[in-house]
Amino acid sequence: VVSAQKICKSFGSLDVLKGIDLEVHEREVLCLIGPSGSGKSTLLRCINHLEKIDAGRLYVDGVLVGYRQRGDKLHELREKEVALQRKDIGMVFQRFNLFPHMTALENVMEAPVQVRREPRSEVRQRALELLDRVGLADKAASYPAQLSGGQQQRVAIARALAMQPKLMLFDEPTSALDPELVGDVLGVMRQLAKDGMTMVVVTHEMQFAREVADKVLFMDGGVVVEAGPPDQVIGDPKHQRTKEFLARVL
Ligand code: ATP
Ligand code: MG
Repeated sequence: VVSAQKICKSFGSLDVLKGIDLEVHEREVLCLIGPSGSGKSTLLRCINHLEKIDAGRLYVDGVLVGYRQRGDKLHELREKEVALQRKDIGMVFQRFNLFPHMTALENVMEAPVQVRREPRSEVRQRALELLDRVGLADKAASYPAQLSGGQQQRVAIARALAMQPKLMLFDEPTSALDPELVGDVLGVMRQLAKDGMTMVVVTHEMQFAREVADKVLFMDGGVVVEAGPPDQVIGDPKHQRTKEFLARVL
């Protein structure tokens, strides 16, 4: 579903991604780990073209992200075309950023109704099912301010799922939560993985990565230092930098 070849990204003179390769197949979960500033969020934002890459090739579902190729020249897509590509990609951030003036149910219904112009009654049914799936059937009428951080984050996941994405991106979805709320959110993500969703997850939750990831990618300084199955990268790392990082977070 995601294929990246030699992705490079700089902010001014700061080279943040220095030739990243990655492959995520359908139904796979890839966990991105690495120290602060290593470029994890930037890589995730490149995947749905919130950041433009400077070099390399990035495909989602076989389609070149952000560009159209003619001959060997690349032409940048217009914002409208990018939005069309992006609607198959769900994203959940560290901060929940729900619409504060809408109930949980309205938050989940918003995009399918407003962006895709689907009939309200159908969307409402699906939204209720999604809230049930994230364990919040009884909170449909609650406003974000009336929900805990973990509940808000689960609404955010339901909202992303409402667009029926082919790929879900998570950027440290539990790192802003109180410790006792982390488990529920990870539980929802674990179930989503079991149901076969393709996912790329930036996380510091090594236990989750070990259990759920098919592949783990350790990044440092804008390069992939080590990649492979979790038992290898987390359980038996080969590189000194990976060992030092894990010693700090485990
Ligand atoms: P963290 O674990 O702290 O979230 P990260 O691995 O997600 O870190 P990024 O957010 O990708 O790291 O940032 C990588 C580097 O790029 C950092 O040095 C950051 O300051 C820089 N950076 C990120 N976004 C921008 C931007 N829009 N403009 C300038 N520099 C940026
Ligand atoms: Mg980040």
